[in-house]
Amino acid sequence: AGAGTGIGGTRYDLEKETELRFEVDSGEKVQLELLTGLAEVFGSELNRNKKYTFGPGSKIAVFTWQGCSVALFGKTEVAYVSKDTPMLLYLNTHAALEQMRRQAERENERGPRVMVVGPTDVGKSTVCRLLLSYAVRLGRRPTLVELDVGQSAVSVPGTMSALCIERPADVEEGYSVQAPLVYHFGSTSPGTNIKLYNKLTSCLAEVFSQRCEVNRKASVGGCIINTCGWVKSSGYHALVHCASAFEVDVVLVLDQERLYNELKRDLPHFVRVVLLPKSGGVVERSKDCRRETRDEKIREYFYGFRSTSFFPHAFDVRFSDVRIYKIGAPSIPDSCLPLGMSQDDTQLKLVPVTPGRDLTHHVLSVSCADEGEDGTGGVRRGVLESPVCGFIVVTNVDTQAQVMTVLSPAPRPLPRHTLLIMDIRFIDLK
Ligand code: ADP
Repeated sequence: AGAGTGIGGTRYDLEKETELRFEVDSGEKVQLELLTGLAEVFGSELNRNKKYTFGPGSKIAVFTWQGCSVALFGKTEVAYVSKDTPMLLYLNTHAALEQMRRQAERENERGPRVMVVGPTDVGKSTVCRLLLSYAVRLGRRPTLVELDVGQSAVSVPGTMSALCIERPADVEEGYSVQAPLVYHFGSTSPGTNIKLYNKLTSCLAEVFSQRCEVNRKASVGGCIINTCGWVKSSGYHALVHCASAFEVDVVLVLDQERLYNELKRDLPHFVRVVLLPKSGGVVERSKDCRRETRDEKIREYFYGFRSTSFFPHAFDVRFSDVRIYKIGAPSIPDSCLPLGMSQDDTQLKLVPVTPGRDLTHHVLSVSCADEGEDGTGGVRRGVLESPVCGFIVVTNVDTQAQVMTVLSPAPRPLPRHTLLIMDIRFIDLK
């Protein structure tokens, strides 16, 4: 279908219900323009006569329900048209969820709470985005719950969050993130601290339910929960835990029949578990590719995206002005635990960190926790259960002078003084 045009790009004429898939090489960028007809990118409609730019590593599908022609400018790694997509099944899923919202509206009930599960690289995030965009295009206000600590679409990696969706995701930039509710998890894999992961899942569920009680639109809109690709052992149990914490009504299982059967077996019978195929367009991402995406996400947090540049600040913070904690003491054999203490306690323990050189490049979450006198976090409203108000990166540590230099989105001083250390590091090359 690709044919050169006089406009300097490559023109593709797409029949209805087909999609153009393309990937952008590292170090390249590609522009996309809709010439005629209607088309969307992961549920967000394209405007005509506007050039959309996609950066290195982007993997995009331009889908059309009615037929269209588009042009690509720049060097693509691959670009081809596929007639074979599961989009009709995804649309039907959306239609079923919309039925549930209508019914909720009529009967003063709550709307669908949907959990999307499956192994890595099956298009979970993409399906979430699609369902959210379709819902919001009908005037709904669904909530995205992002539990994928490796590749968050909402905040920096190592976080778990919820975001009320008020407009379709931006074609180039994704969700416009105004006021997400973000919790510190601290690493890119739930297995690092599964107790904390489950606890934060419960926190998010509770906050969401509270919001639904006071906000009818949020309640009817329901939520779409994106999960991690870890679907075995504790990862699987985390999914079951999530289903119960959020009292989900629907589970969409992408691509894995085994997982589908397990969930059907283990979840209450009133939960609708649906198996959906993955799209042939979903591209498997290498470890390096994942790392780059994570890095990019942190860079965006500090420096903004193309259209909106931010100018982060660098300043010194005295050790004595902050309290730095890591969540979770290293696990020790049961026999060595102090009397009356369980492994759970060690995984959820706030361990004070003495700043040293090894703190350099670490991402720290700035906790919103009330700042009581009690520095240990022992009895105060837990630091664990408090959301974070932002992130900083330690760029230098001077143990002699007892100060560290940080990169911060806002000028000094730090809004709060309880900092939580992440396993994640960011090297600022700017
Ligand atoms: P998961 O959340 O399961 O890890 P994603 O939804 O993030 O998977 O999808 C993996 C990658 O595949 C993403 O870069 C996404 O943009 C891309 N992708 C998803 N669907 C398509 C498609 N139909 N065509 C081309 N690329 C796609």
